[in-house]
Amino acid sequence: MSAYNVEKVLSVHHWTDNYFSFTCSRDESLRFDNGQFVMVALKVEGLERPIARAYSVASANWEEHLEFFSIKVQDGALTSRLQHLKVGDEVLISRKPTGTLVLADLKPGKNLYLLATGTGIAPFLSLTKDPEAYEEFEKIILVHGVRHIEDLAYREHFTTYLKEHEYLGDIIKKQLIYYPIVSREPFEHQGRITTLMTNGQLFRDIGLPVINPKEDRAMICGSPTMLKDVSEVLNGFGLEVSPKRGQRGDYLIERAFVEQ
Ligand SMILES: Cc1cc2nc3c(=O)[nH]c(=O)nc-3n(C[C@H](O)[C@H](O)[C@H](O)COP(=O)(O)OP(=O)(O)OC[C@H]3O[C@@H](n4cnc5c(N)ncnc54)[C@H](O)[C@@H]3O)c2cc1C
Repeated sequence: MSAYNVEKVLSVHHWTDNYFSFTCSRDESLRFDNGQFVMVALKVEGLERPIARAYSVASANWEEHLEFFSIKVQDGALTSRLQHLKVGDEVLISRKPTGTLVLADLKPGKNLYLLATGTGIAPFLSLTKDPEAYEEFEKIILVHGVRHIEDLAYREHFTTYLKEHEYLGDIIKKQLIYYPIVSREPFEHQGRITTLMTNGQLFRDIGLPVINPKEDRAMICGSPTMLKDVSEVLNGFGLEVSPKRGQRGDYLIERAFVEQ
């Protein structure tokens, strides 16, 4: 049996020259935990094997379709092609989801911080639609750091649409805090995630105590440098990372991409 299901592209949305999202059909056998990733692949003429890359699933596990949020790397083996997807095209989705950003690996807590840069927000798009996350935590704080305001993909999804959601809307209005950060132009929250955490501004802005191991849990998703920097900040506040999949910790990390 192939490692992939063949799915059909249902919609494509280009946010900027650097980011796009697409949805595709979902094989009914595909089961995943919110926060996990799959391999997304394309068959390319002349190549024996499909070109495959890891992708966090951005849709929630209760949704009928799959959604992905992608970078466009102009000379990237996969995304130089993937960015040209059209409705009706075929895309390959691996059958075995995996990943470390799962609620089950967090110790119980009061507030859950989801800390992302760039496409690192993808697994948190899924987790912020997970009713279980809102049962386990009183507040979920989604922090999305980007360079430019236009890079804040999904901003309206959080400020407007999710709050109007038929089933989740009321929960989200009470429990989800969306905190966008922009580093390279003037913005209401300007700078880097690490700076706004260490100088306390983030916590003052959202009206919560400074992050602490007694009450707070976190997940981080971004580049290796971002993971290292944010981990250092969380360690400094006394939180302990889960040592490996299946073992609970105060916080969890996932690498969203490999830097060059
Ligand atoms: C666990 C995991 C989950 C991932 N989830 C996603 C996701 O949800 N969305 C997504 O777009 N990518 C995600 N990635 C990265 C993805 O696997 C590919 O690297 C990306 O699609 C580019 O593929 P490519 O073949 O075009 O270029 P590659 O040859 O894979 O990458 C070329 C270079 O582009 C840069 N780059 C790659 N991906 C990114 C990115 N996402 N953001 C910024 N710079 C990047 C890096 O410098 C990299 O060395 C994930 C990676 C991992 C390991």
